[in-house]
Amino acid sequence: MGSLDGRYVLGTREKSQVARNAGRLSSVDGLLPAVRPKRSEPSIRPTGAVGGGGDVQLGLPEGVSFERLELSEERCPNCRSNGLSVFYTVRNVPMHSCLLVSSQKKALEYPRGGLQLSFCHACGFIANTRFDGTANNYCTEYEETQGFSPRFRAFAKSLAERLIEKYDIRGKSVLEIGCGKGEFLALMCELGDNRGIGIDPAYVPERNPSRTTRSINFIQDFYSEAYADLEVDVICCRHTLEHIAPTYAFMDMIRRAIGDRRDVLVLFEVPDVIRVLKEGAFWDIYYEHCTYFSAGSLARLFRASRFEIDDLYLDYDGQYIILAAYPGESSIGPASEIENDLGDLSRAFERFRQTCSDRLVHWRNTIDELTAAGQRTVLWGSGSKAVAFLTTLGITDEIEYVVDINPYKRGRFTLGAGQEIVSPEFLTRYRPDKVIVMNPIYCDEIGRNLDQLGVRAELLPL
Ligand SMILES: [Zn+2]
Repeated sequence: MGSLDGRYVLGTREKSQVARNAGRLSSVDGLLPAVRPKRSEPSIRPTGAVGGGGDVQLGLPEGVSFERLELSEERCPNCRSNGLSVFYTVRNVPMHSCLLVSSQKKALEYPRGGLQLSFCHACGFIANTRFDGTANNYCTEYEETQGFSPRFRAFAKSLAERLIEKYDIRGKSVLEIGCGKGEFLALMCELGDNRGIGIDPAYVPERNPSRTTRSINFIQDFYSEAYADLEVDVICCRHTLEHIAPTYAFMDMIRRAIGDRRDVLVLFEVPDVIRVLKEGAFWDIYYEHCTYFSAGSLARLFRASRFEIDDLYLDYDGQYIILAAYPGESSIGPASEIENDLGDLSRAFERFRQTCSDRLVHWRNTIDELTAAGQRTVLWGSGSKAVAFLTTLGITDEIEYVVDINPYKRGRFTLGAGQEIVSPEFLTRYRPDKVIVMNPIYCDEIGRNLDQLGVRAELLPL
């Protein structure tokens, strides 16, 4: 149905406003068939032809552009003001990164779409204005969990403990929108003796993480207005909002579902885009993430949707934004210091062309040099970062394997680039020289893992 009042959650099934606009803009990209590039030809081309700027010293991977384009008629899905500035484009990226596929052929032929990041100068929000939510396929074959990492589990546990303590979430009912396999909701219920409702199309009943299953009801579906009558004390939504294109409409739906119950606690967690921009972290920009937030742009969305912000901070080495809010009546409220980030955002946006180009050229050259020297290189971590890293750089045969500690991903293949996903134990036979670490926060964990396996390889963190 296309109406913003209906079922459109997670940017799937129905076209969002952004997706409809994207349709007009994406006649070039569409769903082009994936063709594995031949590696005999280097994928770098001279820069002058790509971004057209003198600030980029070396070549960029094919399909990447920093060309500016003003979309004066485009409406910001966050603050609803007109005018967005396109600043980063990648052609033909896979439309998913966490779906499990059983063959290299399926991985290479997975449908592709266009990335076109656009910046709203009014609120600092960033969206992929070529995103088409109808192409998404969130289902039980969607493997997003990071819960196999001890480092991530420790973070999730300390977050749950902090929230339970600070907001006295004990003996309460907790709804988690986009609960994935349910690990965090299970923690909230076990640590605070709470009752839970988890909603996610990618939930897998056989993997119910809760020891006290009677206290949690999982629903294999997208959250929508159909669930507006669920009366709960706490609403959690972690790493889900960045997959949703009509962000204001989504928050407005939640606010209307809460109605006049002013004591419902709302907890959101999303990646911080200021870090992505400052680091030129092209591996953090991929099709599944159609929206990108800073603490300020997230707060502005919440205020516009009639929430009062209670807490807003960065965690996980500054990678994630955590926001706690209560329903309010108006969008007016005093902004905290962390919300006043438009200047910082604008500077990072202006510098992104250089920071990102530097990173792209560095990693493309590094891979080429390692390949030329006959070095065996693997990636560690097969999630969205790996897919974005490999496909943006145009890497195929130079890297044969991607390691993942999640046993459900073994024997599957990275979408778009086609590497086989293997267990850490596989490395005792493969003996890599280099391990590119997709998130530096896991370096210690990976180093210990390799030591235990007796594998000597140099870690190269992104
Ligand atoms: Zn805006």
